[in-house]
Amino acid sequence: MTPAVYFDGLSTRPIWVEVWREDAVLHWRTADRQRAWQASLASMEPSARVTGLPFVLHLADGAHLQIEHDQMPADWFPGHHRLEKLVDWLERRWMAALAGVVVVVVSLLALFEYGVPWAADRVADHLPHALESSMGRQSLTALEGRVLLPTHLSAERQTHLQAVFWHFALGMPGLGDVRLKFYSAPMIGANAFALPDGTIVFTDQLASALPDDEAFIAVIAHELGHQVHHHMLRQVLRNSGAFIVAGMMMGDVTSMGGITAGIPLFLINSHYSRTFEEDADGFAFAALSRQDIDPVAFVHMMQALQRSHPESKDQAAERYVMSHPLNADRIGRAEAASLAFKARHGAGAAVQAKK
Ligand SMILES: [Zn+2]
Repeated sequence: MTPAVYFDGLSTRPIWVEVWREDAVLHWRTADRQRAWQASLASMEPSARVTGLPFVLHLADGAHLQIEHDQMPADWFPGHHRLEKLVDWLERRWMAALAGVVVVVVSLLALFEYGVPWAADRVADHLPHALESSMGRQSLTALEGRVLLPTHLSAERQTHLQAVFWHFALGMPGLGDVRLKFYSAPMIGANAFALPDGTIVFTDQLASALPDDEAFIAVIAHELGHQVHHHMLRQVLRNSGAFIVAGMMMGDVTSMGGITAGIPLFLINSHYSRTFEEDADGFAFAALSRQDIDPVAFVHMMQALQRSHPESKDQAAERYVMSHPLNADRIGRAEAASLAFKARHGAGAAVQAKK
């Protein structure tokens, strides 16, 4: 039984009744059961359900029943009213439109977050070696005379470091085409990077800041890791966005100019992703271990660079550290690699390699 107010359409006098439903027929009567009425649900025109307002059932004879909106059983007139249907339809459309917008936004974000890096990696992995070499040579040419100036390292020092480099590089079978070049680079300071053609560029500023040959080899090992994993090309492609990557995938050769121009920009403004640094570290730790150098050397080198030159001659001296932020994860992995190295080689070898 649902309480309601009945207006018989003849007078404005309210009649307090109780209403109930039997199948398709609505019944109502006064509390003293002296008077009773009935009508089929189909013959009634219900008002819209509006929160806070009484629900009104218009009867065919001009009478109407008023029921408090929260007392009205939901199954009497489910979604019957035109306005209710419109609101319902709009609501569903609105949800559909909003869902559409959400799908588009999420897809775009996913494209830039995952799609571009994914495509960039596919392009970098499948680029013909000759093309990669030519891009490396072109960007080196673009840098020389502007960012990279002739080295001031003595011939003696260069010869020594080249010998250390080649001793290490030749100990890595399958490394491919690599070479080491020194430049003075006031603009990018203490830095080292691997170009797509296999050239490791080492700045005078970094060479002078390193404490010893082992620190030098640690940088080389890390940069060779970037080289082996094509990080320069992959990172520049990632930074260059969807259009260039799409162009490269379609085999559009004109996109390549953008990549070649992107390399100098990358060197000046940008740095590798954290994942790339971790991959280069992993490569370096393994390569160092294989040549009897404790892999923790790279972290020691970074820490030494961080500590050195507090009132440095030029602020750029710490550039390499800035572009390779040391964090607990990297140090932790280096220490794990170092423990494994010590376990394999024994403490004696580790001490010997430290000389
Ligand atoms: Zn790096």
